[in-house]
Amino acid sequence: MNWQPQALQEFIVKIHSRCNLRCDYCYIYEMDDATWREQPGAMSPEVARIVARRICEHARRHELGDVVLVLHGGEPLLVRPKRMEHLLDIFLEELRPAVKVRFAMQTNGVLLDDDVLELLSNYNVSFGVSLDGGEHENDRHRKTKSGAGSYTAVAERIRALQNSEQSYLFDGFLATIDVDNDPIAVYRSLRSLHPPAMDFLLPHGNWSEPPPRGRSQSATPFADWLITLFDHWFPVRHDEPSIRIFETIISGALGRSTTNELIGLTPVRLAVIETDGSYELVDVMKTAYEGAAKTGLDAFRHDLDAVLNHPSVAVRQCGVAGLSPTCRSCSVVDVCGGGYYPHRYRAGSGFLNPSVFCRDLELLCNHVVRVVDAIASR
Ligand code: SF4
Repeated sequence: MNWQPQALQEFIVKIHSRCNLRCDYCYIYEMDDATWREQPGAMSPEVARIVARRICEHARRHELGDVVLVLHGGEPLLVRPKRMEHLLDIFLEELRPAVKVRFAMQTNGVLLDDDVLELLSNYNVSFGVSLDGGEHENDRHRKTKSGAGSYTAVAERIRALQNSEQSYLFDGFLATIDVDNDPIAVYRSLRSLHPPAMDFLLPHGNWSEPPPRGRSQSATPFADWLITLFDHWFPVRHDEPSIRIFETIISGALGRSTTNELIGLTPVRLAVIETDGSYELVDVMKTAYEGAAKTGLDAFRHDLDAVLNHPSVAVRQCGVAGLSPTCRSCSVVDVCGGGYYPHRYRAGSGFLNPSVFCRDLELLCNHVVRVVDAIASR
């Protein structure tokens, strides 16, 4: 394959392994894989220091100029401000002498109060918020532990944020698609909260556990949903929030590299580090089978180069050569890249398959490519 490992540059650091919501599609807490129960609730200062030293070692060895630490969970804001401040200080102490550090966070937004915003501002932690649309769309799945919807609490936090000095930290919304929701209604509801960007995730699924297709009778319900949204968004997009999945496909159609691990052929350069310091693959791997995200590696015993040599990481740095024969001969492979790695799983044959969303991705990519080509040839 002529494989050349590329250094890891983004580190998803799980500082808390539990959540304060109970979304019904959650791949961590609502599926068969219960490995989260083995994890300590929060990352300890001792583990944070070991993890930071490993990232520093990796940055020095590979002469990286900058790294991104994404504070993640569970729900990362279950680590309250004083403890969070201590962890951030440890990361900076260990990393700053060697490499420039940028902090980011993915949160459900429920705990984004003034104290938290002040702390995030002090450390320049930008953040994305998970929200699936307006009250109707979001609350069908994203519920509190008592079963109530979470929209009202999150929307209140976002409105307060928009009126605060820290609004510049807000990166935008991350929404999971439910094809029973109207895409334009979802978009308009999210847009009404003035995010700078949005992204839309395909729901969990693979060939052995197909994704939820809602009431749709279409063979391509996800492409139908996304194409409806694209056609609404694209013509006026200079005024609209950016939508990452579309920007990625447009970049691919123009032959540019992208930084999206969900679609496209750009080598994936991220590692996930659990609260106990173990290195894992992305969480969504847990939807494949029990323990699928485990690597058997950890910060106490292994440097991060060991992660680079893990087959499921290496194969995502191999471009077309790491894909199934079907994908390799596909006309949109340069844009689609075989889709998201966990979506390729099939019991018995593993991950060397096209995405379970193959038909949707092919239709969507072809649609966007046609629109981009038409504009380019004007
Ligand atoms: S559209 Fe299907 S066959 Fe083509 S690259 Fe994507 S997943 Fe593979």
